[in-house]
This record gives sequence, structure tokens and C-alpha cells, in this order.
Amino acid sequence: MSLIVQKYGGTSLGDVERIQAVAARIEGYCKQGHRLVVVVSAMSGETNRLVSIGRQISVSGHYPREMDVLTASGEQVSAALLAMALQQRGIKAKSMLADQVKVLTDSVFGKARIQKIETQSLMAALDGGYIPIVTGYQGVDEHHNITTLGRGGSDTSAVALAAVLGADECEICTDVDGVYTADPRLVDAARRLDEITFEEMLELASLGSKVLHPRSVEFAGRYKVPLRVLSTFNKGPGTLITVERENMEQPLISGIAHARDEAKVTVTGVPDIPGIASKILGPISAANVEVDMIVQNTGADGLTDFTFTVKREDFDRTLALLKPLCEEIGAANLAGDKEIAKVSIVGVGMRSHAGVATKMFDCLASENINIQMISTSEIKISVVVAEKYLELAVRSLHSEFGL
Ligand code: ASP
Ligand code: MG
Repeated sequence: MSLIVQKYGGTSLGDVERIQAVAARIEGYCKQGHRLVVVVSAMSGETNRLVSIGRQISVSGHYPREMDVLTASGEQVSAALLAMALQQRGIKAKSMLADQVKVLTDSVFGKARIQKIETQSLMAALDGGYIPIVTGYQGVDEHHNITTLGRGGSDTSAVALAAVLGADECEICTDVDGVYTADPRLVDAARRLDEITFEEMLELASLGSKVLHPRSVEFAGRYKVPLRVLSTFNKGPGTLITVERENMEQPLISGIAHARDEAKVTVTGVPDIPGIASKILGPISAANVEVDMIVQNTGADGLTDFTFTVKREDFDRTLALLKPLCEEIGAANLAGDKEIAKVSIVGVGMRSHAGVATKMFDCLASENINIQMISTSEIKISVVVAEKYLELAVRSLHSEFGL
């Protein structure tokens, strides 16, 4: 008998009718003889609502421990409601909180990492004929504090459970019917992929595709958990995320990701001396601002320019941090641009083909789109362009690469 871990996202559990529809879907799987462990997210909008009330109260301080207690409650509600909906259908199901399963994490509130999952109570529930309905996103640390895994973290909960239980598959049931070659809201011609490798999916997820939490893909890749993204309410095979296989169709590019939520910061005329990068970026990372692309020009006349990108929400903070620093090191100018976007092409096929970058740059040039920054890895090329060209860039590349 196969064991499947299914995760239902917030939109799939958004109201009473949907919860009942999910229960009906689960019943269908039971009738086919599958054993199931279900992981749930909070009802759609609920986590945002909880974060916002929390912020209204904690105006002058941060209370990470209490914020985790607060936001973890959303998943508890979903688990109880779904368990009751199943029981209404005569199916044995029971909600299980992270503490009851024992999803043990470190103590980093708000972005805890899973350290260990005990399988005893889950196995006991399964052996008793129950479907465990496990709260995603939450964990518990060694001192019994409730922790959370970070926004979108219930994907990771599901994959981690699938890994420790040795499940045959982990299904992420969501409001899209799979992983697409590009965001279908941007590109009419975007199509669903039947399969994609863990590596490619990890790049896509990290580069802005919102379908899966990047850490869940990392986990799935590490423990070789076959992961499937599929629609909760429309029938279809979805997209299987899996290991690279010999016979896997290997196009040059598998997908295009984009991110709008970035901003660019440029420091010009900084002394071209050892230690300058760490001097500029040190205070920024100390303030927990995530820096993405970094470019330093070749120096001329003992001076160089330094450009990097941060999340748009961190832009003002970054400039404020840099201002005094620029004066201190005698930089000529500090400038920024919030109207940028990042477009990335991803594909394992790139590894064995030269000229992919040229093809990408030619395509953008033919549309008169200026490339502001470039970064590459073995299986991806990212460029920063003006935000107003984002859609054009994604569409042109989609057709250029025959996706
Ligand atoms: N409910 C959490 C969030 O909205 C976790 C999740 O949905 O995966 O971020
Ligand atoms: Mg999600």
C-alpha cells in the first residue's frame, strides 16, 4: 500500500466549502487504497491577518517567540476543521500539532529549521486507521517553545514528513495545476511541465517562482523525495519534481523566473583597495538585509564602482546604512533604483550547450531592453532590467527559447 503525504495550501482551505471539497478529495484517495498523511496551511489570508494584528500590538519591540505562538495558530484552525470535515464523512482522521507529532526544530523563531521528526505517534495514528492532519509551518524546540519555519514553510513541513516516513510521494496540492515554463499571468504561451529536476526547481523557486518554498525543494532533493505540484480541484498529473534522468527530455531552458521585488544600489568612485567590499556589505548583512547580485567594476585610476541588489522592502534601510559609510570611505556617489526586475532563465540543458547567454542577450537586445546586471551559475542566467520591460523580456525569451 502506498503512502502519500499531501499538503493543502491556504487557498485550498479558504472557506468551509473548500475544506469540504478537500475532504472529498481525500476520501477519493482513501478509496483507492492509499495511506495518507495530510499537512495543512492556514486558511488563505489568515497568516497575514495574524502578522498584522501582532504588529499593531508590538509597536515598539520585537517578540519573536510570541509572534510564532500567534501565527502558528492559523494552521491549528485548518487542521481541526479538516479533521472534522473528514469525520463527518465517516473517515477516521485526527489533527496533530507539531508538538504532538514532534517536529523538533532549532530555536530561531520565525525561521526555524527542522532538526528531527519523530515518527512514532504518526505511525501509531496510521496503524490505528487514522489520517493524521498535521499542522504545517510550525515546530517545537527542545524547550517546548512553539517555532515557525518562515512564510510558506508548510511545503517544507510536508516534504520533511515525507522524507522521514519514506513516503512514495509528496503532493503539494495548490491553486495552480503545476509548474509552468513561465508565469502564465505574464505569458499566454506558458505551459505546464510534466517533469523538472530538483536542481532546476530550486533555482526557479529561489529566483522568484512562487509555487514552492525553496527550502522544501532543497529538502526534497537531498532526501530524494518525489515531489508533485498539482491542483487541488482540477484533475491532472501536475508537475513531478525529480532527479535528473538520462532519458529526460532536456531542452536548453526549462523555465523562466522573474522577481519584481528587488532594488539596486550603486556606490561609485570607491577606493579600489582590499577590504572595500566587506566594508560596504558588512553593515548591511549585519542588519540582516539579504544581498542578492553583486557586481564590482574593474578599477580605473584607483577607483571602482560597486553595485548590488536587495529586496525592495530593504531598500530605504540599505541606503540609510550606506550613507554615513560612503562619507567615511570617501565614495563619490550613492545612488539607487527601485524600478528594476530580475529575469532568469533556468535549465540543466545549459550545462552541455555553449551560447545560451549570447542567445539570451541577443534576444533582449533585439527588443531594445538594456541589461543592467548579469549573474550566472551552472544552470541559470539572471539579468536585471528596468521593471517596465519585465513582461516584454519574459515573453520574448519564452518564444526565443522555444518554450
Ligand atoms: N501559513 C503560512 C504562511 O502563510 C505557511 C504556509 O502557508 O506555508 O506563510
Ligand atoms: Mg504556500
